Amino acid sequence: MKKYLLPEGGNFYKANLHCHTTVSDGSVTPEEVKAAYKSRGYSIIAYTDHDIMIDHDNLREADFLPLLGYEMEINVDTNTPHNRILTCHLCLIARDRENAKQVCWHRSKYLFGNADKYKHLVKFDESLPDYERVYSHQGINDIIAKAKAGNFFVTYNHPNWSLESYPEYSGYEGMNAIEMFNFGCLNEGYDDYNPSVYDDLLRQGKRIYCIGADDNHGSKNPENRYFDFFGAFTMIKAEALEYSAVIEALDNGNFYASQGPEITELYVKDGKVYIKCSEAAQITYTTGIRHRGTVKAKNDVPVTEAVFAIHPEDIYFRLTVTDEKGLHATTNAYFVDKIL
Ligand SMILES: [Zn+2]
Ligand SMILES: [Zn+2]
Repeated sequence: MKKYLLPEGGNFYKANLHCHTTVSDGSVTPEEVKAAYKSRGYSIIAYTDHDIMIDHDNLREADFLPLLGYEMEINVDTNTPHNRILTCHLCLIARDRENAKQVCWHRSKYLFGNADKYKHLVKFDESLPDYERVYSHQGINDIIAKAKAGNFFVTYNHPNWSLESYPEYSGYEGMNAIEMFNFGCLNEGYDDYNPSVYDDLLRQGKRIYCIGADDNHGSKNPENRYFDFFGAFTMIKAEALEYSAVIEALDNGNFYASQGPEITELYVKDGKVYIKCSEAAQITYTTGIRHRGTVKAKNDVPVTEAVFAIHPEDIYFRLTVTDEKGLHATTNAYFVDKIL
């Protein structure tokens, strides 16, 4: 019997789950972001301006869904020069649009760009004192825990740009997903294609997903306004383009991350995983142990499908599709104890 890892039913919706606008330090307005992304086939934008969560539901249409969110930055509080400061960035996406309140809010600190102009619109629990951010495992885990309690989907962003490595990120608990691709950072020359970070976390036993996102800020240069747009995305398979259906798909891992290649089908049958995709140079099977598999294009004939046997000792597996330009699409990790 087939067990679909990406649901058989529903539709794929193209999403950018990390985005900045003129509400914080972006140079493109929320409306312009919507128009630009819609023209490139996107249906979903998570508006994740720095530290300010504003409902952009006025932008919703039958073919466009704005998600409510914000990005938090937790910096080492030292006299370290700015370009050496360790920092942890998290995107928080509200699961319940109607009842979302910003967590870990401070009434006057941590706002930059235009965020100060919008702080009067922030909804938060007024009975709580101002929240002081602390860069430590405990401090960041407290934020993640409050975000989860506040009904947010939490992603861990661009570890390479943040200068974080194993000693830092291995101590973070409870994130829902990691950014496999952050196009804005890649575009600036950082190595925020993060398969090794993802494997590190998975091998620690963390059962988390991976997304692709632009983290677009835009340029003030009218000829190059969208230079950090459209380079990484998440394909979400949901029953409908509705807030609750899309959140349910995120919660259930019904999506993959990509820089371009498409994955059209993914299922398990009789101990093997089957993948179908757009024309590729290589499809790779990655596991939690020293066991991998590859299927490559031969004689200039691209590959569009592959089958890999799942070994019970693999711990988890995930698949990567790489096209001839070197762009990747990556599935979430699937743990063998839930599959076989
Ligand atoms: Zn960031
Ligand atoms: Zn960002």
